[in-house]
Amino acid sequence: MTVRMRSLQSINTKKSTDVMSMPLMEKPVSDYFNEFVFGPEAKKKYLPIEILEKLNHCIENYIPLDKETADIIALGLKNWAIDHQVTHYTHWFQPLTGKTSEKHDTFFQFDKNWRAIEKLSGRELTIQEPDGSSFPTGGLRTTHEARSYTVWDPTSPIFIRRTRYGRTLCVPAILISYSGESLDLKAPLLKSMKLINEISTKVCKLFDGSINKVLPTLGWEQEYFVVDESLFNARPDLVLCGRTLYGNGSARGQQLADHYFGAIPERVYNFIIEFEQEALRLGIPIKTRHNEVAPNQFECAPHFEFANIAADHNLLLMDKIDKVAIRHGLRVLIHEKPFQGINGSGKHNNWSLATDTGVNLLDPGDNPHKNLLFLTFFINTLAAVYKNADLLRASIASAGNDHRLGANEAPPAIISAFIGDNMERALEAFLNDTDLDEIDHLEENSLDFLLVPFQKQHSTDRNRTSPFPFTGNKFEFRAPGSSVNVSLPMTVLNVIVADQLKEFYSNIELKLQEFEGSSDSVLVNELNNIIKSELKSIYNELTPILFNGDNYEKEWVEEAEKRGLPNLKSTPEALKAFLSDKNIKIFERNNIFKPHEVIARYNVAIEEYVNKLEIEAILVDEIAQTLIIPAVVNYQNDLIQNVQGLKELGLSNESETHKNQLLKISSHLEGMIKHLELLDDYRRELSKISDLSEKATIFDSKIKPIFETIRFHADKLEMIVDDKFWQLPKYRELLFLH
Ligand code: ADP
Ligand code: MG
Repeated sequence: MTVRMRSLQSINTKKSTDVMSMPLMEKPVSDYFNEFVFGPEAKKKYLPIEILEKLNHCIENYIPLDKETADIIALGLKNWAIDHQVTHYTHWFQPLTGKTSEKHDTFFQFDKNWRAIEKLSGRELTIQEPDGSSFPTGGLRTTHEARSYTVWDPTSPIFIRRTRYGRTLCVPAILISYSGESLDLKAPLLKSMKLINEISTKVCKLFDGSINKVLPTLGWEQEYFVVDESLFNARPDLVLCGRTLYGNGSARGQQLADHYFGAIPERVYNFIIEFEQEALRLGIPIKTRHNEVAPNQFECAPHFEFANIAADHNLLLMDKIDKVAIRHGLRVLIHEKPFQGINGSGKHNNWSLATDTGVNLLDPGDNPHKNLLFLTFFINTLAAVYKNADLLRASIASAGNDHRLGANEAPPAIISAFIGDNMERALEAFLNDTDLDEIDHLEENSLDFLLVPFQKQHSTDRNRTSPFPFTGNKFEFRAPGSSVNVSLPMTVLNVIVADQLKEFYSNIELKLQEFEGSSDSVLVNELNNIIKSELKSIYNELTPILFNGDNYEKEWVEEAEKRGLPNLKSTPEALKAFLSDKNIKIFERNNIFKPHEVIARYNVAIEEYVNKLEIEAILVDEIAQTLIIPAVVNYQNDLIQNVQGLKELGLSNESETHKNQLLKISSHLEGMIKHLELLDDYRRELSKISDLSEKATIFDSKIKPIFETIRFHADKLEMIVDDKFWQLPKYRELLFLH
């Protein structure tokens, strides 16, 4: 029996045993939210009030903690941890692998009398010194000077990771080198948040003196696929690459459009309930769940949080979701494109700016055309995207996302922004100093059959094809891939917006100088006029980035080119944006990265791209040689015997028909083998090249088309070869069985 047949059989047995015996698990979330987090309640209980106030004051005002305070916090934290049966602690950080890292230490120590005790000092809580030699540094560090530090990030909550056998305290941290360069994705995000806070607060004070803090908020939406674990295990490509390298489309895919928002299958539903509960216990405020467009594709989204916390929570969720799925005999695919021919998975990043006075700066209110505070942040964000579309595109470039962008399911590689008709009219009214007539698209009496009050929620329509739409009171960056660590795209967005706001602010200041010494009322009036005229001129320049149409249309590609918008289709092309003078400078002048740090990030990203494609190349070959070709040959042998038998019986006409079938198989087999040899030649050639950018370009332009040809032939063969020989679980099995 093939591995595939065995896995198909095991799905049925799982159904009856695992699912039906599950206990009812739903409880009110408020019963267990933050249960394993050193959150506000735990802090209040375990820290002296003056220490807690000091900690909050330091976090609020970017002031370093002193040693004594750190010691007292460590003591309270350890006591809380011990009360929760925790034995170990670790710094939990985000190296440039895009994944999270941890190195556990125990609280156990000896006291003066060699008695075993549990202890955590302020120093142990705040700084650890892991050997950094094995983390990617893009050339920043060499192996012999590997020392690096992880440093506690008190802005993100400490949590407990637990299994049935043990519990570990996870302390969010950043990773820096011996000489202070960032070696992770978190430190730049924190720097970018401090930056945007400083400049946005200054800008806000032009309007409202009571605003003292502004931070970016992020609400992500995570898409993923779920497949049965035994089928997953029978696909080496899913196990090693997270996506199928072979597989003919299922007769039924997503064409019936019946999966989106459909009823969630029961086994998956149970798994979702469990992982959501785990997430909520860890303080991840998960709110929504639904079926996505493709079969076996789902999405979850939390309530938004400050961007750094949301980024941590997304990483934690991606880890948790995988572990809980395994408990249910399922596997989660977070790859951007697990299946050819049906939708891939993205991670929409809803982004806005929130003040300490509770204002969402991207909320237009009832009169957007007169709301100068809103217009200031709205227009400057659009200008930032216009000027730095290339950098935004680079921030989401990855081998996986290349399959998605521009494949008529996700925004294209061209970055543009959608603001919708209503907002466009509001801007027109603002530009022309006219008033705005509310146009309601709903016919007055069209809803008079409704039995409940109906109020429209948002003043903008939706555009699912735009990479950067405005969705009523926030922007939604829709281009990031499902597996990305959102820290990088969020860092880039914060930096470009802050940079633009700085330019705006200095222009306002310059123009205001003319009125120095005037009375307050004159100043207020002039300030308004200056802001208005500055915003108008910024807006008039940024219009090429605005596109309200269908981003999937071919005509848009031509139109975007005319407008001078970058169209960086592949990762090797997109990543080069990190190396441009403009972009190196934007990071440098905003104190996010020194030039050599930006180059290091480019190196890490391009190396990851090459490594991923190298793994795929090996696997394309191995699966063909060991699983596909042998199955085809088996079937070929059956047919050969059949043709011979027919001939012996004197049925030469029939034997001819079957011979044609054999010829068809042979021609696809030949096509496969020829291109596998070609792949081999390229790989040998590539091994002689050391320049990573060059390698990446060859992978993109030469090797990927070879993958596609090999797959084309293999997928055709899948449709011909006797089902009993076929080893790889088929698309219909992966997508429709659960
Ligand atoms: P949709 O799929 O229609 O875009 P969802 O409810 O799935 O809507 O997701 C909306 C996301 O936007 C949620 O993650 C939510 O927390 C987030 N969001 C809402 N308001 C803000 C805001 N002010 N800042 C950041 N994110 C926000
Ligand atoms: Mg959305």
